[in-house]
Order: sequence, then structure tokens, then C-alpha cells
Amino acid sequence: MQIIRDLLTLRAARSQLSGRVALVPTMGALHEGHRTLVVEAARLAERRIVSIFVNPTQFGPGEDLSRYPRQEAADAAMLAAEGVDILWAPPVEVVYPAGFATSVHVGGITDALEGAARPGHFDGVATVVAKLFGQATPDVALFGEKDYQQLAVIRRMVADLDIAVDIVGVPTVRDADGLALSSRNAYLTRSERTAALALPRALAAAAAAIRRGDPVPATLEAASATLHSAGFSRIDYVALRDASTLAAMTRLDAPARLLAAAVVGTTRLIDNIAVDPE
Ligand code: AMP
Repeated sequence: MQIIRDLLTLRAARSQLSGRVALVPTMGALHEGHRTLVVEAARLAERRIVSIFVNPTQFGPGEDLSRYPRQEAADAAMLAAEGVDILWAPPVEVVYPAGFATSVHVGGITDALEGAARPGHFDGVATVVAKLFGQATPDVALFGEKDYQQLAVIRRMVADLDIAVDIVGVPTVRDADGLALSSRNAYLTRSERTAALALPRALAAAAAAIRRGDPVPATLEAASATLHSAGFSRIDYVALRDASTLAAMTRLDAPARLLAAAVVGTTRLIDNIAVDPE
């Protein structure tokens, strides 16, 4: 596996790759969820590029950019063992050189949920992903359903900008007890890790209730209350949304997604699950 940190070398190495090329964009601190994307990428393409870039522009003021976990050597060892061709790990000044002045804004779908809780977040995400597509020129790119709204935003962006990259979503990988794997789980103390389990459990319970016909608003409020009593200090949202447009839903009349974001200790966690009508 080549580890590349500058654009000229990346372009040269990319031009040597024959067949379909997959890109898996990440911020590093890789876990089994990321590994699943990398393994899935091998089924879709002959060659694989993984990027590790902790993108400063998708972090808001007061967010965890400076303490975001970084462990590139361990990440590189895992990716090499998986047979990845290129690890693209550019420094910030390669991605955002002096004079950089462009931003990609995806409208509408970014207004609510993560977009409302983290103003500017999706501009940072869309801009860096557009750049990663321009840098690595993949045929296909894989994203986790763990970041469900992000996946929807990227799909919207490539459709709107006629970007010729197939976008593939990969189901969320969870620990045995149900907690979605996340690089941010590393921040959790033992007791916070226990409290955090309420998130997937509350989502599963609310999804089951909605499926059997319980009223949506009351069910979402109950899920919020459950998270509060489990030890979450702030609930940003618990929301039922159309699975493809992310439009708000008050009745389960189309395939839906139940999404939540909440803070335990100093850690903000997100999770989501499918809720399909009978
Ligand atoms: P990140 O490094 O957190 O930016 O994530 C990089 C990619 O991995 C994104 O497409 C995420 O949605 C995906 N990802 C993160 N956690 C998981 C997980 N538990 N299961 C599946 N994909 C994940």
C-alpha cells in the first residue's frame, strides 16, 4: 500500500490503477465499521483508495476538532492488511492551500437534523467530498448509513453536480450490545458507555412502537424522555423522516428512518434505524 500526502503523487499513482476504483473517505481512528466499508469496496471495484483526513471545515466552533482521535500508524496497518492500494492522507494545507475560496452548499436536505444542530457542517462535508472525488477520481465511493443524512447529502450533491461517481451506502456496524461503532466512542468513560446503550435501544423501541401504529409525536417524545433518564444531558433531536428525502413524517406511510443525536458526558452521539411500513 502506498501512503500518499501530495496531489502530484496521488495523480500519478491513480493513473496507474486499472479497472474500477473505489474510494472510502474517512477521518481515521478506524474501527470495524470503516473496515466493513473497505471490505465492501473490494466487491465493487478492483482497486481501493482510502482517505484519512480530519476535515477542519466540518467541525464547528467548540466541537472536538483538536481532540479528535488520531492513530494513523494503526490505521495504515489495518488498511495494508486489507489489501488497500492507496492511503491518501493529505495535510490540511494540501487540501486547503492559501487562497482557497470555494464552498459546496447542498440546500434543503441540510436544513434540519445535523444541519440545524451543526451549522456549516454539511458545507464542510460536501466541499471536502467534492474535493476528494476530484483528487482520487473514483468510479464508486462508499459511505456508512451511520451518518445517514451525510449519505443523503452526498447523493444529492453528485446528482446535482453531475459527478460520475456511484454512491453506495453500507449498513451500520454495531458492537455486540447494539451501540453503533464510532471513532467518538473512544471519548466515553465506562459509565457513559453504559448510558450510551440507551440510544440504540430507544431507537429500536420507538421504531417498533411506530410500526405497530403508536402515534409518532408521542413516541418520539417518549424516546427523548428515555434518553434523558438514561443519562443523556442534551437531546438534539429524535426524528422520523422519509428514508430518501428526509422530509418530516407524522405517519408511517412510506419507508422511513428514525434518527437521533444526543450528548452523554462530553460526547455527542448519533444513530439511526430503518422503520418500514408493514
Ligand atoms: P468517519 O471517519 O467517522 O468520518 O467515517 C467515515 C465513513 O465510515 C463514513 O462514511 C461513515 O458513515 C462510516 N462509518 C462510521 N461508522 C460506521 C459504522 N459504525 N458502520 C458503518 N459505517 C460507518
